Amino acid sequence: MDLQSTINQNSSETPNHRSLTNTSQTHKTDETEINHIKSEQKKSWTIEDSEKLYRILGWGNPYFSINSAGHVTVSPKGDLGGSLDLYELVESIKQRNIGLPLIIRFSDILEDRIERLNACFSKAIARYKYKNIYRGVFPVKCNQNSQLVKEVVKFGKPHKFGLEAGSKPELLIAIATLNTTDALIICNGYKDREYIETAMLAQRLGKTPIIVIEQVEEVQLVIEASRKLNIKPVVGVRVKLSTKGIGRWAGTTGDRAKFGLNIPEIIQVVNQLKSAGILDSLQLLHFHVGSQISSISVIKDAIREASQIYVELAQLGANMKYLDVGGGLAIDYDGSKTNFYASKNYDMQNYANDIVAEVKEACEEKNILPPILVSESGRAVASHQSVLIFDVLGVSQVPKEEPPVIGKDEHLILQNLYETYQSISKNNYQEAYHDAIQFKEESISLFNFGYLSITERAKVEQLYWGCFRKIQEILKDSEYVPDDLEELEKIMASIYYINLSVFQSAPDSWAINQLFPIMPIHQLDEEPTERAILADLTCDSDGKIEQFIDLRDVKSLLELHALKVTNKSSQYSPIQKSENSATEITSVFEPYYLAMFLGGAYQEIMGNLHNLFGDVNVVHIKLTPSGYKIEHVVKGDTMTEVLNYVQYNSDGLVESIRCQTEQALQEEKITLKESRMLLQNYESSLSSYTYLSN
Ligand SMILES: *Cc1c(COP(=O)(O)O)cnc(C)c1O
Repeated sequence: MDLQSTINQNSSETPNHRSLTNTSQTHKTDETEINHIKSEQKKSWTIEDSEKLYRILGWGNPYFSINSAGHVTVSPKGDLGGSLDLYELVESIKQRNIGLPLIIRFSDILEDRIERLNACFSKAIARYKYKNIYRGVFPVKCNQNSQLVKEVVKFGKPHKFGLEAGSKPELLIAIATLNTTDALIICNGYKDREYIETAMLAQRLGKTPIIVIEQVEEVQLVIEASRKLNIKPVVGVRVKLSTKGIGRWAGTTGDRAKFGLNIPEIIQVVNQLKSAGILDSLQLLHFHVGSQISSISVIKDAIREASQIYVELAQLGANMKYLDVGGGLAIDYDGSKTNFYASKNYDMQNYANDIVAEVKEACEEKNILPPILVSESGRAVASHQSVLIFDVLGVSQVPKEEPPVIGKDEHLILQNLYETYQSISKNNYQEAYHDAIQFKEESISLFNFGYLSITERAKVEQLYWGCFRKIQEILKDSEYVPDDLEELEKIMASIYYINLSVFQSAPDSWAINQLFPIMPIHQLDEEPTERAILADLTCDSDGKIEQFIDLRDVKSLLELHALKVTNKSSQYSPIQKSENSATEITSVFEPYYLAMFLGGAYQEIMGNLHNLFGDVNVVHIKLTPSGYKIEHVVKGDTMTEVLNYVQYNSDGLVESIRCQTEQALQEEKITLKESRMLLQNYESSLSSYTYLSN
């Protein structure tokens, strides 16, 4: 498999000066880009336009693309061929009575990621004639889902791919699940006696646990357990490198890092093991500079420092055999191939090459046997395999109708605003924009002091939106948008209500502003005419997504298609009313599906039950020669299940409603028929999905 991508090994050609703060330089380019897209909209919209707009070839390659029907397609085996129409797949899953939101897991993608990682290291080892092997592990914390971990073990078997545990429960998973001879179980995290003894005893089951000392106190526990059980453990040390990390997880390394030992502490560990007579147990050096390392130079620096420490430990008499480079192998969420936090300026092959080359050089210099290389790549293995599909329930938009005509006898403020509205042109729109804002503010003061009636205020708001719409039309055709008018796009943006909880399904988007590619999975041969943010089902104002991937920096609005009104009268939009009086909710729509990609690492497991929206449905798909098959379906939480998490008992709840209904019946406040309906609805809700169905 040739993985050499278009990224240059010599990263000087890669733009690596991108930063979070907008410089005027990047700004300019943004505008050119937007204008470029704008001028293309005048021609008829093509799927190539959608590819460019959503950047799918950047972040999706080789798994996701768009077919001629304007649907997203998935090629789960990457370059090896075979593909699925994602839209049709969703439709057919829905027909099996599995509702949205839904996670679709592609086992073949997981397999391909594991193959790729191992192939890259094999290639690097061959290229540099490195005299040892690679033996990776999957960090269970990335996605502890049982089917997924089992698949990692299965697909990893040919490469003796192991597991990394960061806690006691994860250790229990690793010991029970990993049945590959010689595959490593790296035991990280805080440890107590029970953790250490369990790990050591796993040796008796033929496993290969390596206990990584993260705190000085753990050495004594290891020595004691070793004596008590008469088992010689394999021990590692986690070092706090002085190499600076980068991005969100930069604090994982350095003197103040939470985990790991500084150099004096490592020397102390060596001495303790030596006096206990088990210095030959110390065989592994581990470090972890943080997740999503976007810059290859940080990785190189870390490897260089760690290689020296490895060599020194060997010279101190430890029986060094493994160098574990931790996680950090990044994902290109925005497809920009830069060192932006949502991207990376290197590919997997560059990563493997640099590790192999640096370690080899350091060892050769001191005549030390090169170590078995271990990486704990989680994000890079688990992200692509999972696609989250959700539907749009409704939309809230700035009203589109013509504003009212204002007569000479009406309130002066209305006349002023009307005049502003009528006079808007290419020459004065900037001034008109500020006038409209000012008149609106004045009218609200007038209203608050009782000088303006509510019907007059309604007219003010209609005129105000009318002004903005006119200005927006002018801006659509203009070459450039003045800085002070940039807010306008945001003010005029639609809010798409999505059948999802951000807290449950994309927690990092809420907690740390992480970006994930989000796009429609159909209608991609049609122009997306709306600009929108996404609002979720929770009643929390943080429950929204208003940052989206872009070529440079981020964009605050996502291009989406106008919802198509259906003529099916049975359908209704569950969202009736918006809080904002200036907006209105359109009603009955054809299904519109969006997908969030690359969320297979961390998102599922860190999600929470805010508003008691539970786990979503999960379907495992595997390609077959004739198409695909659904391997597993894991139904999402029912209301009974989420209520149980917070210690409500569903029988008790039903009983309470039954008693209250009985009381109301006695008092003739409810009819028998109503009481039956109430109980039926109550009970059927308890056993159903926590999300909306339509
Ligand atoms: C989180 C973590 C990993 C996984 O990092 P990725 O960047 O997801 O590959 C590996 N090792 C340790 C010690 C971790 O804490």
